[in-house]
Amino acid sequence: MEHSDITTEIKHQVLDHNLNVCLECGKCSAVCPMLDFYGEYAYQRSPRGVVERLSLAPDDIDDEEALWYCLTCQECTFFCPSGVDFQGFMMDLRDLLLRHGHRKYAVFCPVCGSYLMPKKEFEYLQKDPERAKGLGDLLAVCPRCKKSSYAELLHRMAPVHKKMKHI
Ligand code: SF4
Ligand code: SF4
Repeated sequence: MEHSDITTEIKHQVLDHNLNVCLECGKCSAVCPMLDFYGEYAYQRSPRGVVERLSLAPDDIDDEEALWYCLTCQECTFFCPSGVDFQGFMMDLRDLLLRHGHRKYAVFCPVCGSYLMPKKEFEYLQKDPERAKGLGDLLAVCPRCKKSSYAELLHRMAPVHKKMKHI
């Protein structure tokens, strides 16, 4: 029952993001930075591979891990000559999977529990401390919690607040 709901929604998403007009030119895979990030090419997780797979078989989500490598950088969408919005599709698809309880390949904010990023991306960023420099806060909590901790910090530091403490 649940699987068929997901399939119907994926069918809509395929149409909404124009995956059905793919020309099979391969430009998306050529500009995709996933190879630099993960060090090895795999057709099944490349944009071209995912477009082909889910356009032809929207119920084919058993090998779900391949759907969590994309960095949603938008390069493929920008260069696609046919208007396929793969980046937008991946964001909607992951949102759909999370709504249906597919949480295995995602990382969540430890403070509020909202979705942070794909586990693969998280692991990559943590592997290289130099590259992850300055990302400490982002890797620890989601932007909303980060913003509210920052607001709390500002509140504590504000002179007016200090003054109030002595009243
Ligand atoms: S760039 Fe666009 S048209 Fe070409 S393979 Fe990728 S999705 Fe299809
Ligand atoms: S959005 Fe994803 S698939 Fe597209 S170029 Fe970026 S990493 Fe590759």
